[in-house]
Amino acid sequence: MKVVATADWRQSIPFDTPVVVSELVPGEATRCVTCGVESELRERDQLWAFKHQHPNHHDGFVRFYCREHVPVVEKREPVPTVRAARAAARAATPSAVRTSPVRRVSNEDRPPRAMCPDCYVEVSAKGVCGMCGNTI
Ligand SMILES: [Zn+2]
Ligand SMILES: [Zn+2]
Repeated sequence: MKVVATADWRQSIPFDTPVVVSELVPGEATRCVTCGVESELRERDQLWAFKHQHPNHHDGFVRFYCREHVPVVEKREPVPTVRAARAAARAATPSAVRTSPVRRVSNEDRPPRAMCPDCYVEVSAKGVCGMCGNTI
């Protein structure tokens, strides 16, 4: 039984990095997991092993792909979690204009806004007064 040897190469390859299968586990032609069991057999130098992260198993799991289906790797771009993506979106969204200590001198980049007749403050872009909620 050579089960241990089979497991070794899976652990030795990095996550999210395509590796030519023939360099890892030479052997008979096999199939791309995306092309499926109905597809033609491919030589192992035409297939890439790709180790995916698995939410429950830290060893991840490995699939073989043809040139067409091997996942695209974005270099130096860690896969963002949903939480990280939300945090980034929040950081990119400017919070209320009111919190900005610098008052803009130029109004060229936005149309002038109406004033609320009751509160004497500029209404929002949607025409709603931030103080009393009136729609102007
Ligand atoms: Zn394929
Ligand atoms: Zn108002």
